[in-house]
Amino acid sequence: MTVTVRFAPSPTGYIHIGNTRTALSNWLYAKKNGGNFILRYDDTDVERSKEEYARAIAVDLDWLGIRPDRVEYQSKRFDTYARAVEKLRQAGLLYPCYETAEELERRRKLRLARRLPPIYGREALKLTDAEKAAFEAEGRKPHWRFLLPNFENDPFVTSRTEVHWDDLIRGPQTVDLASMSDPVLVREDGTYLYTLPSVTDDIDMGVTHIIRGDDHVTNTGAQIALFKALGAEPPVFGHHNLLTTISGEGLSKRSGALSIGSLREAGYEPMAVASLAVLIGSSEAVTAVPDMAHLAGHFDLTAISKSAAKFDPAELDTLNRALLHEMPFEEARPRLENLNIAGLRAEAFWLTVRGNLDRFNDAAHWWQIVDGALPWGLNQAPYLSDDDRAFVRDALRLIPDAPWDRNTWKEWTDRLKAETGRKGKNLFMPLRIALTGQIHGPELADLLVLIGPERTKSRLS
Ligand code: GLU
Repeated sequence: MTVTVRFAPSPTGYIHIGNTRTALSNWLYAKKNGGNFILRYDDTDVERSKEEYARAIAVDLDWLGIRPDRVEYQSKRFDTYARAVEKLRQAGLLYPCYETAEELERRRKLRLARRLPPIYGREALKLTDAEKAAFEAEGRKPHWRFLLPNFENDPFVTSRTEVHWDDLIRGPQTVDLASMSDPVLVREDGTYLYTLPSVTDDIDMGVTHIIRGDDHVTNTGAQIALFKALGAEPPVFGHHNLLTTISGEGLSKRSGALSIGSLREAGYEPMAVASLAVLIGSSEAVTAVPDMAHLAGHFDLTAISKSAAKFDPAELDTLNRALLHEMPFEEARPRLENLNIAGLRAEAFWLTVRGNLDRFNDAAHWWQIVDGALPWGLNQAPYLSDDDRAFVRDALRLIPDAPWDRNTWKEWTDRLKAETGRKGKNLFMPLRIALTGQIHGPELADLLVLIGPERTKSRLS
């Protein structure tokens, strides 16, 4: 059996780090098991689904390194769902209901007042053909409910009906079908709610494992019943915990907050986002994993905790820096070229500055310092006192002759110590500022060589 998984977003907004957790869990599960990954757009809600969002989701997944083996749109598969509806109807498992939302709400309250569980009482099953015809004559259209198999002979006498599954993440699960309402599968206007198209596709597309957020746990019982009603063996399920913001709110596709697109625009590395999305809220340590193959090695569904995990954007910054600090030049090279950073010094430059980068593109700022002109001369350089300026001019007199190497800095500063009596921060900070215009940065021993004698001399005079 080939493992087949699917990531099934509704293209009603941009995917966020929480959706990414689902997508990556499926992707890594497929990778680890030599399986296939289907990207399935759950776009039966034609009002809210937008092609623009579907395209953005594809771009985001590609950026993260997820390459679907197959892409499907539910909006192109209405015929298949109509056939599934017919099959259920023929089997007497789908029945028309005419209640309005207000009627249902009134009944729900009545049941609660009588201390009965607020589930649908299957009143529509009692309707005679004449009553149905009367509703239709009034212009009412039915919605259609799936008759859950939670009774022996009489649907009005339900009995505890346990559905079990061994969840890949949560372990053995039990749901009682008698504790839930018959789910509505088709709305008054003939459109489908999520359940029927989802189960029909999972059957048709040979999905073997469904890995998704634990907000779907309660759906799973009814879905297992539907798989069986449609003549299929249910797949294996795994429900992962959800991510919340630091203050505990759920992430929403609609708000665009923490969308993958916005993280990409903010300059984060895809593997920083992927590492956090996969490892947060599990017993695995959250570390910056440099590529998907290694992330697959750290990925373990059974390590995921059962409670919600808080997503802290500050963690993303830490992971991003860690990835850049370790990034080999060969990996950085093409991206540096895009920033017009190339040539003989490019490698030494990268190894010098990578430890100081928050975002990859910060390299351009350091390249300007190393290779370009500073926007000021020594007299306008920030932070320097008159004394410091005099010291810097002195320093220029004592600068070692070219060619320079990594030892030049030490040779120079040893001379300066001896001649001026300055030491420590007093000695190197004015030089750092005059040379780079910054108070922080990479090792001056390395920067000095990269800046080179000519630029150094002009900055110190
Ligand atoms: N479209 C559904 C969602 O985004 C898919 C749920 C599932 O994986 O079954 O929640």
